[in-house]
Amino acid sequence: MSIEDFSPNVEHLEPSSTLVLAARARALKADGVPVVDLSAGEPQYASPAFALQAATSAIEAGKTGYPPTSGLPELRQAIAAYLTETTATTAVDPTEVIVSAGVKQALFNCCYALFGEGDEVLIPTPYWVSYPALVDLAGAKSVFVDTAWDDGLLVSVEQLEAARSSKTRGLLLNSPSNPSGAVYDLKHLTEILVWAAEHDIWVLSDEIYRRLAYENAAPSVFDIPDRGDHVILLDGVSKAFCMPGFRIGYAVGPEQLIRKTTDLQGQTTSGAAGPSQYAAAAALNQSDAREAFVTNLVSQLHILRDIGISRLQAIDAIEVQPAPGALYFYVKLLDDSKSSMEVAEDLLLNGLVASVPGEPFGSPGHLRFNFAVERPVLEEGLERITAFFE
Ligand code: PMP
Ligand code: GLU
Repeated sequence: MSIEDFSPNVEHLEPSSTLVLAARARALKADGVPVVDLSAGEPQYASPAFALQAATSAIEAGKTGYPPTSGLPELRQAIAAYLTETTATTAVDPTEVIVSAGVKQALFNCCYALFGEGDEVLIPTPYWVSYPALVDLAGAKSVFVDTAWDDGLLVSVEQLEAARSSKTRGLLLNSPSNPSGAVYDLKHLTEILVWAAEHDIWVLSDEIYRRLAYENAAPSVFDIPDRGDHVILLDGVSKAFCMPGFRIGYAVGPEQLIRKTTDLQGQTTSGAAGPSQYAAAAALNQSDAREAFVTNLVSQLHILRDIGISRLQAIDAIEVQPAPGALYFYVKLLDDSKSSMEVAEDLLLNGLVASVPGEPFGSPGHLRFNFAVERPVLEEGLERITAFFE
């Protein structure tokens, strides 16, 4: 089959670089190369036992039929209750919730349902690798808004306003951010929502790392009572509950959008896998066990972050700030004689550490390392990174 046989739908489609790099690290390991893999953003810890048990029990009880397209009622209810409990929102209704196969599918659904030919969607840089692809698949155009290292890689309303045109339909916001770990405080987030509401711009707030915040809690758009009706919260169980393989994410927004994305899902995937949904419902419903799990995870990650930051800050060739959230070290390379793509390649093949270079995040000159690994793995990785740069 030649490339001309593909439709324009996938004309610009590239593979997800994070997944490609993770696969590459896995392949090298399988070939006996002892790579320390800090590439994909994946908490490499056990999922909560009570969630695993719920999936097993559902399978053993024969609950293996098609779940409702928008998600099991008990999971939609659990998500609504979880958000009501953990944000300042007044009650979320389950009818405002759709369950999907990961936040990735939830984002795809929303982009596809809301944006199209002639629309522009603002994406602050650095961004998570899949955002431009998701906007492109919807037929819309990504408009990148650069942020500055000295501003903590946060976008201001002035910068957004300067990038806005009459075609702007959406903003993809991610706090805490992948890759930078930057967190928008409540005042900043409120200013952005007020600005977006003024211009009827949809805000897709990807809060997959919301619970992984180290100094202060990361605010949610659902902490803002007057957020308007163009705001969608996206979250899932891949990060805070260490359940990425279950593929459960969700979008919460206006009921009409939930109905439309349910129709989309009904014609494309029929929704997320049933046993995974039982597991996610258990993870969210058992609030004491759930909060104990998250608190323990965050305190472990906090320790790993601090170990890593002090080691990385001692390396002259790079600059790094302690990220207030998420699970990454986002490192600035001070020597620009080589691209970050080349440095990442060199670090992989000669330093035996897998990272993700800045290019696919729209910010060349950086490297991203996932620190949500076992402590000895991280320490070995830091040892090798130090040796590589020195
Ligand atoms: N958003 C961001 C910012 C991410 O880093 C990820 C990575 N997994 C996702 C969405 C997708 O998560 P998932 O599909 O596993 O829920
Ligand atoms: N989101 C994670 C990352 O950025 C996992 C891989 C992916 O889904 O892209 O590495």
